[in-house]
Amino acid sequence: MENLMEKIISLSKRRGFVFPTSEIYGGFSGFYDFGPLGVLLKENIKKEWRKAVVFSHDEIVEIDSAIIQNPKTWKASGHLDGFVVEIRECQKCHRRFRVDHLEDDKCPVCQGNLGQPSFFNEMFETYVGAKKDSSAIAYLRPETAQGIFLNFKNVLNTFPKELPFGIAQIGKAFRNEVSPENFIFRIREFEQMELEYFVEPKKSEEYHQKWIDERFKWYLDIGLKKENLKIFEVPKEDLAHYSKRTVEIHYNYPFLKNFGELEGMANRTDFDLKTHSKFSKVDLSLFEPKSRRRFFPYIIEPSVGIERIFLALLLDAYSEEELNSGEKRVVLKFLPKMAPIKLAVFPLLRNKPALVEKAREVYSLLKDNFLVAWDDNDNIGKRYRRQDEIGTPWCVTIDFETLENGTVTLRDRDTTKQTRHLPQEIIKIVKEKIK
Ligand code: ATP
Repeated sequence: MENLMEKIISLSKRRGFVFPTSEIYGGFSGFYDFGPLGVLLKENIKKEWRKAVVFSHDEIVEIDSAIIQNPKTWKASGHLDGFVVEIRECQKCHRRFRVDHLEDDKCPVCQGNLGQPSFFNEMFETYVGAKKDSSAIAYLRPETAQGIFLNFKNVLNTFPKELPFGIAQIGKAFRNEVSPENFIFRIREFEQMELEYFVEPKKSEEYHQKWIDERFKWYLDIGLKKENLKIFEVPKEDLAHYSKRTVEIHYNYPFLKNFGELEGMANRTDFDLKTHSKFSKVDLSLFEPKSRRRFFPYIIEPSVGIERIFLALLLDAYSEEELNSGEKRVVLKFLPKMAPIKLAVFPLLRNKPALVEKAREVYSLLKDNFLVAWDDNDNIGKRYRRQDEIGTPWCVTIDFETLENGTVTLRDRDTTKQTRHLPQEIIKIVKEKIK
C-alpha cells in the first residue's frame, strides 16, 4: 500500500495511539508518547506476552528491577567497553551516522565528505547524588536483562527452582541511538520484554530451539501474518561477545529493504553469571543436589521491544476497503483480544430519552466485563467508521426493537453484518472470542 507508514503515523496521532513527544516544543528526536489507545494496545501486548511466557510456565517468575543499577554492572556486562557503534561525521553538515547504516562514502543527507570512523557508546549517562563529578556517573539501563542476572540469587532464595527455570522482566530501556528512525521502530526510550531462561549447559541448544519455535508461534497467535515474519540466523561473525547462537524473528517493515529485527533470541552461554561472579565476588554458580555438581547454568534469552510489536500490529491490521454501499473505510483488523476497545455502544438516536436510557443500561452491563466505548455523536454510519478505524471488533446499537423485546444489534467489524442478541448473550459471545 502506498505511503502506508505515513497513514499509520497520521492515524496514530489522530486517534490517540502515539504522539510525538514534547510536540509543543518542537518534539524531541527518538522519543514518543503513547496516547489513550496506545496505552491499551501496549497493555494487551504485555498481557499476551505474560500469558505465554510467564503464567503458562510453572518454572518462570517475573521481577521488576531498577532502571539505574550500580554502575559496576555495566563494566561487568561489557556495556561500558563494548556497547558502542562505529560512526562517521559529515564534514559539511556535521551529522553523524552509523557506519553499518551507510550505503556509500558520501553523507546521505547533504552528500558531503565523511570523516574518519570513531566509536560512540550508546548508554545514557546521569549523575546520582548531590555531587556531579565522575564518581557519581551512573547509567540508564540499555536492556532489562542485567537486572535479572543481578537478582539471580535473590530469586533462587525466594523461589527455589530446579533447572530449567526462568526469570522474566518487562520494563523501560534507554539507548542513545545515533539516528533514531522510522517512527517507533528505532527510538531512544523503549520498553523491553525479556526472559532469561536458565538451563543445563548440555541442554542449551535444545531449549534454545524450543523458545525459537514458541516465540514464532506467539506472533501468529497475536495475529501477525505468517508471510510477514521470517526467521533469521545471525551469522557467526556478527554474534555478540556472549552469544553462542542468536536467531532473530524478522518482520516485513515496509521502510526496510529486507525485513527487520522484531525479536532476538540468544544462547548467552554462562557468560553473564560467570562475569558477574567475577566482578562482584559473589558466587552465582548453582549447586545441583541430584548430580552433586556446582556449575554456571547457560542462559537462553528471548528479548523484544514492545514498540516494534506495536508497529507490526498496526501495519498488519491496517486496511482500506470499499463497502457494498460504495463508502470507503479504514479498518484496523486486530484480533479481538488485541483490540484496545472491545465494544462500542450506541443509542440509535441521541434525542430519544428511552433509547438513551436503555443504551446506558446496556453500556454499564458490558462495561463490567470489557473495555467499552460510548458514542452518541453523528449518525450510526459515522460512528461505525470511527470504531472501524481504531479496530473495535463489535458495535452494539440500541434501537426501537430493543424497547420491545430487549434485543440489541451486534455489528461485526470485519463482515459489517448485524445480528440481534440479548445483552447477556453478547457477554458470552465476546468472552469466547477474546480468550
Ligand atoms: P538493532 O539491531 O535493530 O539495533 P539490537 O540487535 O541492538 O537491535 P537487542 O540488543 O537484541 O537489539 O535488543 C532486543 C530487542 O529490543 C530488539 O529485538 C528490539 O525489539 C528491541 N530494541 C532494541 N533497540 C531498540 C530501539 N532503539 N528502539 C526500539 N526497540 C529496540
